[in-house]
Amino acid sequence: MGMNRLALVQLGSCGGCQLSLLDLGERFLDLMETYSIESFPMIREGEDAPEADLTLVEGTVRHANHLALLRRVRERGGSLVALGSCAVFGGVQGLSDATAGGRWKESVTRANAGEHIPLFTRRVLPLDAYVAVDFRLPGCPVPMELLWSFLGKVADGSFTPRDSATVCAECMLRGGSTRGGPFRFTEKKNESGTCFLEQGFLCMGPTTRDGCGAYCPISGYPCRGCRGPTDGVMWFQPLDPRRESWRRLSRSTGRREHEVAEFYRDPAHAFFTFCLGEPLFRNRRWGGTPDLIRRIETGDFK
Ligand code: SF4
Ligand code: SF4
Repeated sequence: MGMNRLALVQLGSCGGCQLSLLDLGERFLDLMETYSIESFPMIREGEDAPEADLTLVEGTVRHANHLALLRRVRERGGSLVALGSCAVFGGVQGLSDATAGGRWKESVTRANAGEHIPLFTRRVLPLDAYVAVDFRLPGCPVPMELLWSFLGKVADGSFTPRDSATVCAECMLRGGSTRGGPFRFTEKKNESGTCFLEQGFLCMGPTTRDGCGAYCPISGYPCRGCRGPTDGVMWFQPLDPRRESWRRLSRSTGRREHEVAEFYRDPAHAFFTFCLGEPLFRNRRWGGTPDLIRRIETGDFK
């Protein structure tokens, strides 16, 4: 016990992870028997960083005001949860660093001419690059059932983090025989019930952490990697999401890896959609994201 004051704090984000909590429907009301909700930006105005036992922080630090708010949350004590892939890995906002020379900053400044604009951060980083994080719940948005289970267990002290498996481990799709490829998803009809990779489509299931119940593949779409890389991929350098995808597609399509690589002209979006801001990838020597970003910025990507 002792986790009964719950706060939600929003940094730079779309609000989708707060919506996951509301998607619980009647179960959201059940939660209120366990928690008193001290702040919830999407449904109620209130103090932005109230005292709480458990604070769910959604979004990334994009400017100085976000950073000040995050630090206030940390200083007020209680447990801090990085909620969603933006908070855990930098999320889709990490892709902004792949725009040539940070041009988005100029366009935001121009569009808000005459208004006070806080100082932007140099680049997008996960929350744990700034403050200590107690729990991480990735996903874009965080899967509703995962959030429900976490909040139930953390309240009575029975939550224990576990090693991640892959989306493939949860996925029931198997088999398939590719002729040609790789293919874009719109180029070929999907064979229902068959593994997307084996059909020659890019599916990030083999490098993405489980927990969503393979929601996309079983709904008829390849995994885009929204839960971020598994712990193994994060820490074991040879398992870079891009290289591993090339390798898998090479095997399923019978093409050489460099032929597969040439097919993906936008590698940041294809392989690092939700984790381009993750320092563990940026710091890799071989073909890590610093190299990728530099090459995209200079137009040197073939
Ligand atoms: S590659 Fe994709 S479709 Fe195939 S088993 Fe893994 S998650 Fe399922
Ligand atoms: S299947 Fe992949 S993209 Fe879809 S919810 Fe799960 S992790 Fe996210």
